Amino acid sequence: MSNNESLHNLRHSTAHLLAAAVLELFPNTKRAIGPAIETGFYYDFEFINPISEEEFPTIEKKMAEILKTWKSFDREEITIEETRKKFKDEPYKLEMAEEFAKNGEKLTVYKSGEYEDLCEGGHSDDPQKEIGAFKLLSVAGAYWRGDEKNKMLARIYGTAFPTEKELDEYLQMLEERLAIRKLLCQVLTEQSYLKFQDTMKNIKMTCLKSIHIIQKKNFSLSQ
Ligand SMILES: [Zn+2]
Repeated sequence: MSNNESLHNLRHSTAHLLAAAVLELFPNTKRAIGPAIETGFYYDFEFINPISEEEFPTIEKKMAEILKTWKSFDREEITIEETRKKFKDEPYKLEMAEEFAKNGEKLTVYKSGEYEDLCEGGHSDDPQKEIGAFKLLSVAGAYWRGDEKNKMLARIYGTAFPTEKELDEYLQMLEERLAIRKLLCQVLTEQSYLKFQDTMKNIKMTCLKSIHIIQKKNFSLSQ
């Protein structure tokens, strides 16, 4: 397995871990999808109550607890009938399962510890050992399937690495980028303000000139 594939699997596995923690802390949350992305992973949820980044430390703590019990990802092929029973309270999972079944694709469930998810695969062999460090980064609204006619879900973004060192380096790089963006924004704001001042000066000059012309005109008419 290449390093990229291994990192991809690690991050997708961490998305499972996030969903497991969310379900324990916020029962009745509906799960949508949880892919790995270039910078980490995300998972889309429909929460009963809105979620904020203030909840992240609690969720991360729960993820760390659950990870201790995850020694593998066990694959099981299931039929659409079994899927309908197993995921009866998960409308987003069911919608995807029905489509997969219609297209003749296999339906698979992956289980780690007590958590299972409908998924196509691509996981760490030994999540407890391989997921060395993770961090939740942000939450944003995301329409189900990217369609604004659908419900707005909460997308939690995070990242994960094999080691704490790699995670720390990545977070430091993010902080530096943020600092540069802030600085750039400040410079642009100042430039805009200076431009605005120049514009106001020009408008004032034009007005004064116009008034002067009108006054002159009125004066010549009254002569
Ligand atoms: Zn998966």
